[in-house]
Amino acid sequence: MKLKFENAPRPSNVTQDQWQDWAWQLRSSLKSHADYAAFFDLHQSEKNAFEKGQQLFNVRSTPYYASLASRTNHLDPIRRILTPHEKELYDPKQAQLDPLGERKNSNNPVPRIIHRYSDRVLFLITDICSVYCRYCTRKHFTGADQAFIKKSEYEQALDYIKKTKGLREVILSGGDPLTISDGQLERVLTDLRKIEHVEIIRIGTRMPVVAPMRITQNLVEIIRRSKPVFLMTHFNHPRELTAEAAEAIERLVDHGIPVMNQMVLLNGVNNHAAIVQALSRRLLYLRAKPYYMFQCDPSIGTDYLRTTVENSLQIQKELWGHLSGLAMPQLSVDIPDGGGKTYYVPNFEKSVSLEKREYVGWDGVHAEYINPEPTEIVQPMDYEMYLAEWNEIRQSKN
Ligand SMILES: *Cc1c(COP(=O)(O)O)cnc(C)c1O
Ligand code: SF4
Repeated sequence: MKLKFENAPRPSNVTQDQWQDWAWQLRSSLKSHADYAAFFDLHQSEKNAFEKGQQLFNVRSTPYYASLASRTNHLDPIRRILTPHEKELYDPKQAQLDPLGERKNSNNPVPRIIHRYSDRVLFLITDICSVYCRYCTRKHFTGADQAFIKKSEYEQALDYIKKTKGLREVILSGGDPLTISDGQLERVLTDLRKIEHVEIIRIGTRMPVVAPMRITQNLVEIIRRSKPVFLMTHFNHPRELTAEAAEAIERLVDHGIPVMNQMVLLNGVNNHAAIVQALSRRLLYLRAKPYYMFQCDPSIGTDYLRTTVENSLQIQKELWGHLSGLAMPQLSVDIPDGGGKTYYVPNFEKSVSLEKREYVGWDGVHAEYINPEPTEIVQPMDYEMYLAEWNEIRQSKN
């Protein structure tokens, strides 16, 4: 079936040129109670959030993204992502300002660098986003108006990456790295490319979702020049895949930039197998690989948007066997306090012994896997050729 992608509804008082200009989209963002009230028929629960929420996490949306949400129904999935709800202010079960322990000294060697896994670091180059998602996991950092990184911190972060020889990958994150200008981004990419041991660069961005016109010809050419760069995007719902978003993804992939998607399971937004499959199949059709399906982190004010782990496992289990492996995102949770990620996989094992394991597969097939005989482990004779590289990586994070 040829999948179709519809244009976002452009308001009649906005010209096509304005709409297609990402700077206009950022300049014209909805930011205040009044902006939201002019755009949406606000529900009492949303008005209360604006009125009582002195400490409310930043509110902001591009007109493009707001146009994808229902104006009248506050239960609409996209509306739930971008509009504050009074439940954000309720006493939570587990509320952490920094659920991933990113500010712990051991993970945060210098400002703006998060080094949790030995071979890769996050580099937070800006704290600005063009839409503030209500479930954001990095509320301790995003939208604190620090904007593009200060020169001294930038140099300190680059020095850290340079001197940590085992690093193979730098993940640009924030905030949203694509809210900075083409010139600034080009400088960051070029500086990173000068570092011998950096092999892979990732850009984590929600711009293809909330302002796909950001993916200009000039931008993709800049990114391509610093290859290999992977673009990690963040679609949560099939309705976010408009014709504009589809064009942005295809432009990236056509220029040799692999696109991977990280979704978050959210209560009342996408917590149904039918929605996850619709999103994942459409992404795959556009050649974007569904990568992670995250359990929502217990960030402050997110209880009403978090699914239970059981609900998430249920969805994953329903998808198993019915969704192409290429389209299947990996269900994953970040262990709080910086414990790192862990995966969930449906358990098909019925018994385990040294000799064999017994399984009942997803559609009920019973079978065993019997270990080979002899069980002596033979080391590949040439493994020492790769040992120096391996040790360098393993020693880069103590
Ligand atoms: C998620 C994450 C990464 C990237 O992990 P992958 O599994 O390689 O996608 C890197 N650093 C930190 C701190 C993370 O939280
Ligand atoms: S785009 Fe990412 S960093 Fe920005 S508000 Fe949304 S979840 Fe947070």
